[in-house]
Amino acid sequence: MRITVLGGYGGESEECRMTCLLIDGKVALDAGCLSRMLPVEEQRKVTSILLTHSHIDHTNSLPFFIDNVYGDGDCRIDIYSSPATIYAVRRHLFNNTFWPDFARLPNHLVPALRFHELRDETPVEIEGLRFTPIPTHHLVPTHGFLIERGSAAVLWSSDTGPTTRMWEIANSVPNLAAVFLETSFDNGMQRMADRAQHLTPRTMFAELRKLERSVPVILHHLKPPYIDKIHQEVEEMAHPDVSFIEQGKTYEF
Ligand SMILES: [Zn+2]
Ligand SMILES: [Zn+2]
Repeated sequence: MRITVLGGYGGESEECRMTCLLIDGKVALDAGCLSRMLPVEEQRKVTSILLTHSHIDHTNSLPFFIDNVYGDGDCRIDIYSSPATIYAVRRHLFNNTFWPDFARLPNHLVPALRFHELRDETPVEIEGLRFTPIPTHHLVPTHGFLIERGSAAVLWSSDTGPTTRMWEIANSVPNLAAVFLETSFDNGMQRMADRAQHLTPRTMFAELRKLERSVPVILHHLKPPYIDKIHQEVEEMAHPDVSFIEQGKTYEF
């Protein structure tokens, strides 16, 4: 499987794009920058989008993406997410005020956007990939995902504070190739991180002790103001498995 990081951050700045992965060219995981980081011809190849949660750093490009691929109304995009996220996106983004309701355009029988509800820990098959949604601990209902194709498996944490079930599942997957784990704030922002249900280097390393094997751990969702301090605090620990996500890179598993 090929995972291209279109956006790997938990906020936006000149150099940082918000969370969005393109998997095997056809499936997006989150849509923090889907319309900004791909040529329109490549956007037209995307058939499906999984949303980890409703926060706008993960959903904001959906309206502009659908505008780019809508054409004369013949596009069909499948969106997979929790019932809570689907409700939020339909109510707050595609509500005919913020943006047209593409779940009823060009008509309600064959709409451009089709929403599919995910159930915790019930895998779905999309374009030859298998996604297992795993609830994490965040301010709104959020799924991390175990992503599998053939014998390759990787774990994407999405946004989370300290959690348990994700690690139980990670430990049960014998062929786990990598864990993408969030680290949003530096240690000096611990109180904020705890309130917002995110990780700092301190809590990230504590989480890693729940992982019972050595696999590459790739940190993502750094918030732009704290990137330098997070790098410093992580590098001081000199953990051999831990590195930082590279925006624009395609990871092959
Ligand atoms: Zn986020
Ligand atoms: Zn979030």
